[in-house]
Amino acid sequence: MSTSMPDPGPDANPAERARWLRDQLWFHNERYYNDDAPIISDSRYDALMQELRDLEAAHPELRSASSPTQIIGGSASDRFPQVQHPIPMLSLANAFDRDDLEAWHRRVTDLLDGQPFRMVAELKIDGLAVRLVYRDGAFVLGATRGNGQTGEDVTPNLREVESIPHSLHGDFPSDLEVRGEVYLPLDSFQRMNEERARNGEPLYANPRNTGAGTIRQLDPEVARSRNMQIWTYSLNHTGDAPMPAGHWQALERLRSYGFCVNPENLVFDTVDEVCAFYDEMLHRRHDWNYEADGVVVKVDSLTQQNALGFAGREPRWAIAYKFPAERANTRLLDIIINVGRTGSLNPQAILEPVVVSGATVQHASLHNEEDIHRKDIRIGDTVEIERAGDVIPHVLGPVPVPGEERGPEFRMPERCPECDTAVVKEQGDAMHRCPNSACPAQFFESLKHFVSRSAMDIDGLGERWCRILIDRGLVSDVSHVYGLRMEQITELDRMGEKLATRILDNVEASKKRPLARILFALGILHVGAEVAELLAARYASLDDIGAATVDELTEIEGIGPRIAESIVNYFATESNRATLAGLRDAGVQLWQELAPIDELAQPWKGQTFVITGTLATMTRREAEGRVKSLGATTTSSVSRKTNWLVAGESAGSKLASAERLGVPILDEGALLALLENPANLAGVSSDPTDDAGGQGSLAL
Ligand code: NAD
Repeated sequence: MSTSMPDPGPDANPAERARWLRDQLWFHNERYYNDDAPIISDSRYDALMQELRDLEAAHPELRSASSPTQIIGGSASDRFPQVQHPIPMLSLANAFDRDDLEAWHRRVTDLLDGQPFRMVAELKIDGLAVRLVYRDGAFVLGATRGNGQTGEDVTPNLREVESIPHSLHGDFPSDLEVRGEVYLPLDSFQRMNEERARNGEPLYANPRNTGAGTIRQLDPEVARSRNMQIWTYSLNHTGDAPMPAGHWQALERLRSYGFCVNPENLVFDTVDEVCAFYDEMLHRRHDWNYEADGVVVKVDSLTQQNALGFAGREPRWAIAYKFPAERANTRLLDIIINVGRTGSLNPQAILEPVVVSGATVQHASLHNEEDIHRKDIRIGDTVEIERAGDVIPHVLGPVPVPGEERGPEFRMPERCPECDTAVVKEQGDAMHRCPNSACPAQFFESLKHFVSRSAMDIDGLGERWCRILIDRGLVSDVSHVYGLRMEQITELDRMGEKLATRILDNVEASKKRPLARILFALGILHVGAEVAELLAARYASLDDIGAATVDELTEIEGIGPRIAESIVNYFATESNRATLAGLRDAGVQLWQELAPIDELAQPWKGQTFVITGTLATMTRREAEGRVKSLGATTTSSVSRKTNWLVAGESAGSKLASAERLGVPILDEGALLALLENPANLAGVSSDPTDDAGGQGSLAL
């Protein structure tokens, strides 16, 4: 890989393998802790470390006090004054699954001779560990961990971290030492990268490294401008004043002195409870404005902590139960181009398969040429990919491997790879596009979209049949779907009568979809589900929308000139008008009954919704767009102020919170029924004390 030592392979003799693993780990420690620029993912690093641990356990003769398994990976850079830590700053043992956690719990129970013990579970914040020293309530020193014994004095930078108090409140001891994790909030990170993108500068790779680099650079103004924050998680020294009896009490004291302590922390008695907490935190890991990479579990009682002590570089009384990785490094084998339904040329990464949070990833999106250039991604590079929730994984950027030769810069093709038409790129549009509306790839995507669940919902007519209908020349415009006849489709290979009947029934049923769905199904550039709802809330028919000017359309909140122009262009295009005429002739309803405008526009004003879990007919974002277009507000967490919780499949902690707080719960069917008849919401009480609908689930 990147060190001088060649990989001897997993079957090498144990001594040789251990030497190679140590060399790798030292090399990557240097990149991670000292350069703040790792070149392998944390999961890969953890796997190398685990392999070395296992080898050392199986071959005691290979153990060494200087092994990376025994020593903290970082060191203190001489760019900063050095600080000795009177109490070493250590690391944590890791658990990667429930078995590991249970094994830790059994070990602790044995070491405590079977005494019961309470545990504090906290989020493991992915930032930079710091030690803060206070004298008579004033902040006097702030240091990094370094090698655990000697750290870097970064006091001037830490003074610019807003949530580190300069002076303490309450009844604080005159000597105090506190530890915590400094982090760069995700919104600041995003803003920084947006600005870099605007200036054409390369983007920062991730918040952890950028945050650590911010504290380990020499200009405090930089730390100030980036809005760095801290969560404190331990009280390590109280001078002459007595230490609290337990960790939980210590956290409460920290809070009383004015420190920020993470509000998610909780105390538990059993492993089951800790696991339930872990599951909830994992489920909500994208809800916070910071990154957490696991849950730290600590024995609460200080007496018990002291009895347990340390093993090497890790306390026996704590363990980090890590979240599964969501990022990984792999090789970019190729970049292929898919032509989307709006003619956009979408570059897609073909990757060497890699497992990210339990799923094998082989493709990832690359957005557009500009983005590829900004990140300087080239075929053959080792790249970091990220998989967030259900979203298609994307490539974060290349991971520089010193000495590795790189391929040429990526260039978009000049001609459409599907129909060979010359590609255009308009000013202000990030995408290259194929301008040929008859391009077969575009039509295939348009048809797939038209029949899809969140559009006309023609169940049975999946991707495969769309392809066959186009290839057989039966459908060359979306309106032709309504002209399909039984005898035509039963002739198709593998189309039985039963399926054909189902498809034709669904085609018939789709003629009466709400106006917003038809608008969305047409695939007008920039008109997603949300904009379609906004238009349908204002206009009674497609004809009315087609007659609207850019000025009229931009009067609608949420519709800007770019969207408005795209709508006007759509209706001005001859071929689109022919499609609409075809739909009308086939009996598709292109209009709706309109209620008085004000009532229709905002019938759910004042109502707050939380939408959770997986919905079958639309994405969560679409659902949010649709409830918002009726005047409601959506939030990401459930509180007493929430009026409705919409729970899809596998709804987790939010559903539990709603049940606990008595917030009424709607299933997807109930939501869809209400979206079709918004006025009915008034008839369903959201008052938890009201028998009409307060408790339990509502399936209207
Ligand atoms: P650790 O992950 O073993 O855990 C200890 C650290 O957790 C503490 O120093 C503290 O900074 C932090 N922490 C966050 N929240 C905490 C809380 N609530 N309570 C207590 N501590 C909390 O840390 P480590 O020893 O610095 O690093 C090992 C990890 O770092 C590896 O598992 C790997 O994920 C990553 N790493 C990656 C590379 C790489 O090349 N990608 C290299 C070195 C280390």
